Amino acid sequence: MSAEQKPMFAKVALIGIGLIGSSMAHAMRRAGLASHIAGYSRRAETLEQARRIGFADSLHELVTECVADADLVVLATPVGSFAALAKEMAPALKQGAIVSDVGSVKTAVLRDVGPHVPKGVHFIPAHPIAGTEQSGPKAGFAELFDNRWCILTPPLGTDEAALERLKEFWRRLGSNVETMDVKHHDLVLAITSHVPHLIAYNIVGTADDLQTVTQSEVIKFSAAGFRDFTRIAASDPTMWRDVFLNNREAVLEVLGRFTEDLSALQRAIRWGDGEALFDLFTRTRAIRRGIIDAGQDTAAPDFGRGAEKKTQ
Ligand code: NAP
Repeated sequence: MSAEQKPMFAKVALIGIGLIGSSMAHAMRRAGLASHIAGYSRRAETLEQARRIGFADSLHELVTECVADADLVVLATPVGSFAALAKEMAPALKQGAIVSDVGSVKTAVLRDVGPHVPKGVHFIPAHPIAGTEQSGPKAGFAELFDNRWCILTPPLGTDEAALERLKEFWRRLGSNVETMDVKHHDLVLAITSHVPHLIAYNIVGTADDLQTVTQSEVIKFSAAGFRDFTRIAASDPTMWRDVFLNNREAVLEVLGRFTEDLSALQRAIRWGDGEALFDLFTRTRAIRRGIIDAGQDTAAPDFGRGAEKKTQ
């Protein structure tokens, strides 16, 4: 067996087996990364769904049972639940194990989980920049992390060997890996993910509140741009509530800038400043091209929806 094929970990414990946890399990199976995949979930219904799909070797309703003897433990529940789970699992963690997570914010994770991690256990937060608006174990698939970035935010003094192992793990799940400091991560994600989600939640809410436009018109004419916002605004309410409560500082900073820029656009429209509008729209079009060139989205018109319809 080559080094590539040898499992990296004897046991990996996934605390949370929704979209991200189950996708990690599928991707681990694909790459043969763990001899044993253990999964924890709160509700019997979720555990039963996971059992039927079969992506885990063992399923647990007790977090302490799930992490026992695990070499890698990954928190994959909403960020607001991390502190309680970390406290509960701490006494059952194996010496030398790596504790990580997939939470969408990182300063709060360091603050909430860090103090509960026992001496001799390596704590390295992580965030795969990959996802969909779907939730639960049925939503997971092995390719979710392919060619996506995973950001690791190792605290000062992190063990180099443990960090290298976690990097290699994410590479074998299909990701490109980058490391950064927690505060920088939270600012970058506020602009690339958190504020765009807030804008989507807001515009869909505004459309829903507009008395002069009926619900049926909003749905009927949605292809004119609104539809793409509704996809984002369909994301899990618990996960996103926790993101905004736990990345308050960076989100408010970016929102301040956003509001100023929106006012400038409002002024340009009011005064008929076509040049200002044209210049901005030209700049933003180039950013879209950059994302496609970097392989982070498809160049197909309408996100490939026309092609999807033809193959159905
Ligand atoms: P998900 O599909 O909704 O799954 C959530 C999992 O967490 C389920 O196993 C659920 O268990 C469990 N859970 C929910 N609330 C809990 C609580 N209070 N205590 C204990 N367990 C709880 O969520 P997801 O999309 O995989 O997101 C998981 C994490 O990944 C979040 O921290 C999120 O920030 C991060 N993330 C998400 C995305 C994305 O696009 N979705 C991308 C990157 C990172 P039950 O079903 O049994 O209640």
